[in-house]
Amino acid sequence: MNKNLLYLFLFILAGCSENKQNSPNVFFSGEIVNPTSEHVVLYKGDVVIDSSALDENNMFTFKLDSIEDGLYHFNHAPEYQYVFLEKGDSLLIRLNTVDFDESLVFSGTGEEINNFMIEIFLANEGEKNLIDDYYGLESKEFARKIDSLEQLKIDLLNDLTLEAELSEKALQIAKANIVYNYATFKERYPFRHKRLSAKKEVPNLPEGFYDYRKDLTYNNKNFTYLRPYYEYMVNHFGNLSYMSCSRGCDIKDKMVRNHLHFNKHKLKLIDSLVEEKELKDNLFRNVAIDYLLKVHDTEANNKIFIEVFHALSGNNKHISEIDDLYEGIRNIQPNKRIPNIEVSNFNGEKVSLQNIAKNNKTVFYFWSGSNKKHLENISKRVMELSQIKPNYNFVGINIQTKDDEWKALTQTVGFDNTNQYRADNFEELTKALIVYPMNKCIITENAMIVDAFGDMYRSFK
Ligand SMILES: [Zn+2]
Repeated sequence: MNKNLLYLFLFILAGCSENKQNSPNVFFSGEIVNPTSEHVVLYKGDVVIDSSALDENNMFTFKLDSIEDGLYHFNHAPEYQYVFLEKGDSLLIRLNTVDFDESLVFSGTGEEINNFMIEIFLANEGEKNLIDDYYGLESKEFARKIDSLEQLKIDLLNDLTLEAELSEKALQIAKANIVYNYATFKERYPFRHKRLSAKKEVPNLPEGFYDYRKDLTYNNKNFTYLRPYYEYMVNHFGNLSYMSCSRGCDIKDKMVRNHLHFNKHKLKLIDSLVEEKELKDNLFRNVAIDYLLKVHDTEANNKIFIEVFHALSGNNKHISEIDDLYEGIRNIQPNKRIPNIEVSNFNGEKVSLQNIAKNNKTVFYFWSGSNKKHLENISKRVMELSQIKPNYNFVGINIQTKDDEWKALTQTVGFDNTNQYRADNFEELTKALIVYPMNKCIITENAMIVDAFGDMYRSFK
């Protein structure tokens, strides 16, 4: 953008600011240097509000009528960042995708709160390693360090309120962005400290360690999609469940292994403490995904879990996603036939997984052209395993890669073409086979599942 034009634009924006209260409209626009996608999409929570195509100058523009004041986020794939919008705002951003967050600058009405949010975001990123080291400290010293980092940010916010007039809502969000971030570290402390100090028990904490909790809320819907708030809630319920299970429930030492009990207990705690529907739905979803996707419990236990989930949260906004996941996992239990999904071979012909896996021992593994490091490692691993496990047929399923790139990469890493297939419908495939994590493999014998949650590195010792 021409510099003079930019100044003119800013000047006009400044001129508009006096009328802020009078206009219900919000203008949000900006320039993306080195765009990585053709669009900018604006969200409120997980709902798309609007999307704007970049023009020939890589500019996007949103003109929004009477939207609710509050926290939004914009996505320029694959990155996203917050934007706080209030009626009458005329906000301009400039960002360079090479340093997405670091380069982001807001100007115009509403710039103060937004530049502050990004400043805090960057400070948090910068403190991560420092705080990882603090977890080794004893609890009083840890709390002192965390409190002083928090106070620095609160001071910055107080300075800002002297210079700029923030609305009540903006101030509340800015404060929550700080407070919940530091509270999260304290919720994590007992577990991180235990691990770092290689002790058997979580440490005894001094009285007052959790005092901050009484000032925090489970029920402010303006915070639901504020990252530090959600992170806090996830860690807080992990902490509460652990403490109440290890003290109150009759499973003491076995607790870590009793995932079903622990996760049911967590659902019940969330249910009893959180009233705000959307936060509750999101936290319930988090527990379900964590349990179903990572624990690989028995079919019977999964069934008990999903029944409890339905009883407590049958109207969850994510219920169909959770049900699909549960069904997908139920269908790939041992001794069931591998789902009859079709994939394409090197000649472009459709072949079903059941056909590929019949009459032999097969290991299905997965790779994508977008993850070169993983491809490099997995191809080496496949060569290795083919040598030491010659009775297995190792079959690669490619996901989310264009046909010609798939073929080229297959040649580059030296895969045998006859054992390589490509998923035409990634969504269908991952729903049926639960492709997570990327190193997972599915082991079958005569098309019957032996282990659908195998691991290319750990399953063949
Ligand atoms: Zn319990």
